Amino acid sequence: MRLYLPFSICALFLACATTMTTSQQPITVAIVNGVVWTGEPDKPWAEAVALSNDRIVAVGRTSEIESRVSAQTRVIDAAGGMVVPGFIDSHVHFLAGGLNLASVQLRDAKTPAEFIARLKTFAATVPAGTWITGGDWDHENWGGELPERSWIDSVTPNNPVWINRLDGHMALANSAAMRLAQVPLSGGDKPGGTVVRDASGQPSGIFKDNAQELIDKAVPEPAPAMLDRALDAAMTYASERGVTSVDHMGTWEDLAVFERAHRAGTMRTRIYAAVPLSTWERLRDTVRARGRGDSWLRIGGLKGFVDGSLGSHTAAMMRPFTDAPKDSGLLVNTPADLYSWTSNADKANLHVIVHAIGDRAINIQLGIFEWVERENGPRDRRFRMEHAQHIAPPDIARFGRLGVIASMQPYHAIDDGRWAEKVIGPERARTTYAFRALRDTQARLAFGSDWPVAPATPLEGIYAAVTRRTLDGKHPGGWIPEQKITVEDALGAYTTGGAYASFEESDKGSLAPGKLADVVVIDRDLTKIAPETIRDAKIQYTIVGGRVVYDHEATTR
Ligand SMILES: [Zn+2]
Repeated sequence: MRLYLPFSICALFLACATTMTTSQQPITVAIVNGVVWTGEPDKPWAEAVALSNDRIVAVGRTSEIESRVSAQTRVIDAAGGMVVPGFIDSHVHFLAGGLNLASVQLRDAKTPAEFIARLKTFAATVPAGTWITGGDWDHENWGGELPERSWIDSVTPNNPVWINRLDGHMALANSAAMRLAQVPLSGGDKPGGTVVRDASGQPSGIFKDNAQELIDKAVPEPAPAMLDRALDAAMTYASERGVTSVDHMGTWEDLAVFERAHRAGTMRTRIYAAVPLSTWERLRDTVRARGRGDSWLRIGGLKGFVDGSLGSHTAAMMRPFTDAPKDSGLLVNTPADLYSWTSNADKANLHVIVHAIGDRAINIQLGIFEWVERENGPRDRRFRMEHAQHIAPPDIARFGRLGVIASMQPYHAIDDGRWAEKVIGPERARTTYAFRALRDTQARLAFGSDWPVAPATPLEGIYAAVTRRTLDGKHPGGWIPEQKITVEDALGAYTTGGAYASFEESDKGSLAPGKLADVVVIDRDLTKIAPETIRDAKIQYTIVGGRVVYDHEATTR
């Protein structure tokens, strides 16, 4: 079966491709006159890259590559722009992102009035009875007052509404949604979840973390055709941004959508699809039966959660939040469960990927990783900590020492940086999004976006990691500037770091003969421009597997 080629065959093929780097191979695409950043430590810079079908066959001088061009070659003139390995976004929710592209847009609603007005306009375009989901609202845009169902009931009379905050850790239901979900007017709180109440003691419509299940269970599953459309929209969105690979954090149902696209031959973005950590036995059996997939769609990763998010006050902290002195967040799973899942998955040779945001959550999971490694013995396991946002200072060096990959989203730093100090105070903020401290202690970094929580735009992420300028413009010199990193470090975390984080560094993440032909052309050299202008750079071409999937000059795609 094509999808589940054993990994050893891929490795074998790569070896063949490398030895066949000869002039007989026809060059299908030549990118010339560029500033090529290869990501290869011993040969970091070049001018041109030659591709033969889905592999890179040469990296070198423009004159060398031009001498091998034939009538069949498509020549792309980078015109002094930068050429880099295809970006790997190491943390996305790809189908949620795709579905959101087609739903109400609330991320940048600046006031409650605008929030309500946009929902009203959108609801008028939706058939009666259809659920309105997505939204990605952010109450921090208007000072932090949580929305309530009373705000939106009158503008959404015909539709159940269930719209999430941009971090996905809380969501707002209207009264119609609550009726359909038969939410009890009292109680409903559960471990790891909160039902927010209004002044009269009734549910306000806001449900946090595990309490979101109260409404989630009533939302109908999107039809397969809609999910296929969402995936296609997500791949287009990724290609426009120079993203050639994503690590998707999702479900078995999501995997079925990707498998459908893979069978149909419509994949334009490579996907490493993680499934829930608690389902490790099913993944073990699936890998045993079918292997781990191929370079377009791979499995083997399991995603778990320790805590919630800072914006929802559900990150697990060692000490209470500065602005909520009785509250120190919550654990969404018990340490005993996390240990058991991590240990069993690791014994089954699977890849454990765990979300931890608060310093207490990070400390607990680092302890579990350390303990499991000691118990299960040495192996190339590449444990991953997703987000790793607020690290207690003594825990920073443990990432490098234990070989735990810090899978981080730099855009969150310039987004949360607007209000994070209010929530955790100045002292804890100093080791928040500690890119530099992690790098200096030899931790491996993999960067991503958490899309649709943040835009899946690596150029924005690089800008964020390099400048740390918050979105509100209040930190022109950078928020916690000592945690800034260089453009090359940030590029590495989006390319080689991402490839390592999915066990694919022998196949992608850098530009070298034999590697997959995943290449991005940017209109300027990011290392030569003022850092604050990095976000103005434009993607010119995105190439995946030797095929141009985004061309800035093409009017239709
Ligand atoms: Zn996520």
